[in-house]
Amino acid sequence: MKVPFALPDCGKDEIQEVTEVIKSRWLTTSSRTLRFEKEFAEHIGARYCLAVNSGTAALHLGLEALGITRENKVIVPIHTFSATAEVVRYLGADPVFVDVDRSTFCITAEVIEKLLDRHGEMINDGSLKAIIPVHFGGHPCDMDGIMEVAQSSDLRVLEDAAHAFPAFCQFSSQKDASSKQRLKNRDLKMVGTIGDVTCFSFYATKPITTAEGGMLATDDDRINKRVQVMRLHGINADIWSRFSDTQADWSYDVIAPGFKYNMPDITAALGIHQLRKAEQFRKRREIIAKTYYQELANIPGLILPKIKCSIENHSWHLYVALIEPKETIDGINRDQFIQKMKEKDIGTSVHYIPLHRMTYYRKQYGLRPEMFPNSEWVFQHCVSLPIYSAMADGQVEYVVDSIREILKR
Ligand SMILES: *Cc1c(COP(=O)(O)O)cnc(C)c1O
Repeated sequence: MKVPFALPDCGKDEIQEVTEVIKSRWLTTSSRTLRFEKEFAEHIGARYCLAVNSGTAALHLGLEALGITRENKVIVPIHTFSATAEVVRYLGADPVFVDVDRSTFCITAEVIEKLLDRHGEMINDGSLKAIIPVHFGGHPCDMDGIMEVAQSSDLRVLEDAAHAFPAFCQFSSQKDASSKQRLKNRDLKMVGTIGDVTCFSFYATKPITTAEGGMLATDDDRINKRVQVMRLHGINADIWSRFSDTQADWSYDVIAPGFKYNMPDITAALGIHQLRKAEQFRKRREIIAKTYYQELANIPGLILPKIKCSIENHSWHLYVALIEPKETIDGINRDQFIQKMKEKDIGTSVHYIPLHRMTYYRKQYGLRPEMFPNSEWVFQHCVSLPIYSAMADGQVEYVVDSIREILKR
């Protein structure tokens, strides 16, 4: 048997919709992109959703619309994919890296508070402008706490939700009411409706995919207007109809040096159908996570993810286990474990090589591993197991049996 680390889950509906786009002879941004945006906004309950051609583009446009410039600093977790930090550099601003929680791999309100206590001058001189929480692996950050710190220090919040669709954040009281009731009470909020801006990714391995793509969600009129303009060359009007509609006006104006970040219809066609299956995909991943918890419990040296949210609030994009070689029966370490999984034709991955280990960030900001003990420890021990909706029961079973065999259980 063979188990790839990740596979997209596209079916007949996607194939048919993409075929229709090709036949329509209108391949780039038009009605399907607009429909995808509208349906995505309805799904998460945000006022505006803007489709773009990558999650990175969404992060870049979001920060730009928040007014981040080269004078500014932005809080970024050290334990993330490089896109989260590079977009800060696109604008000439500087990331202020913070360590993450050892069990959720997310940043916490406490870590941000401590940073603000130590470096209050960044608040006083107005250079620190924003925080980018990453909902790592689909585990929702403690947005209740983070929003409170942000509001009290006048910081904007841009969420990197590349892993977190769909995911839910718990707010304040009534932790034991049912999810439906809590959604109604607004104690439970969907990721995409909390911070100033939320950015999703539809890269091929993400929870839903358009091959490449992203979505920016916001409730803010000004951010919506700015992103509309900046995602397409800084053009101040809707020009999609310019080429297809014979009656359309030829004139337009450029009001800013914008970017080329629009999502084409041919990829939105995938998104429309992926969106309809998103909850079902998440449920399937949750079932796989539950199987791993159940079948891989009590294996010496294997630490399963300790979550700080309820299992149904997590999007389960990643299932990150930790290998403690001192406790495994044969003293197997993470790298040996990955090698043995490879020999059994099972794909795994490491999320992530922390940014303090990347040449550019290390040199530019003088970062050392000792500055981020949790992230460094997680990096040295972590292995991501396959978890995706297209995984068959037999494949899940094969992964479980193989791990038991490798770790002698
Ligand atoms: C994938 C990813 C991104 C970037 O998304 P793209 O669509 O690939 O540009 C950003 N942040 C995190 C944490 C990611 O995993």
